[in-house]
Amino acid sequence: MLELFYDQDDAVMSNMLSAVPFEDSTYLHKFGGIPPHDGVIPPEGTAPWQLLYTIDLADPAIPLVIPGCRFLCLYNAFQYEQPLIQYRLKSDSEVEFIYQDDLKVRNDAPFLPDGKYPDVLPESKAILLGEPEEVVFDEELEEFWLDELEDQEDAASSPDRNQLCALYGGVSQMQIFGHTKCKACGETMDYLASVRGEPEDKVISLWGGEEGVLILYQICPACFTIESVPLVN
Ligand SMILES: [Zn+2]
Repeated sequence: MLELFYDQDDAVMSNMLSAVPFEDSTYLHKFGGIPPHDGVIPPEGTAPWQLLYTIDLADPAIPLVIPGCRFLCLYNAFQYEQPLIQYRLKSDSEVEFIYQDDLKVRNDAPFLPDGKYPDVLPESKAILLGEPEEVVFDEELEEFWLDELEDQEDAASSPDRNQLCALYGGVSQMQIFGHTKCKACGETMDYLASVRGEPEDKVISLWGGEEGVLILYQICPACFTIESVPLVN
């Protein structure tokens, strides 16, 4: 299950999306499937990134905009030892590789079910589970987060999506996500989406029911570069 975040009318909104193998849906949200973009194998990489979710931005319930794209494709690099990646969707058929920590493929990831992920995850339609809800910040955590960042050069000012890291990640992830910079333009990224535990346990089990896995997505508000990183708590 995916949780999406976006700004709307000075609030941070959240919307849940889940795969539904046997239901029809108006918009073309989906889980898995063959990536529509050329070049999802990073330069000199030996394994493809996998397409986890595709979000149809024609759906008025999701007021996110990616210039030139109808679809927001959320990729992962699970098979790599360092799965932090950044990429930019240039169109619905073209993706630009921006960054990957390391191109070593790992065969012994602690959360691999069978030693290797499939290159393509089984495709399934997905639907929004309900109306968007306003995210309510935990004031104590928010205060703590701002204190932690006080001495940083890029300390946050007004509440924004980046503060969600305090709610969703705690200190260790906060250190990553309070400061995540777009490697294409240097801007601080916004929180975009998260997947907790199994992405879609009715469709595929990727790490044997391990609830401690958290996949985070961020997006650059200036150039729309997307970052994906899975974390094991
Ligand atoms: Zn950027």
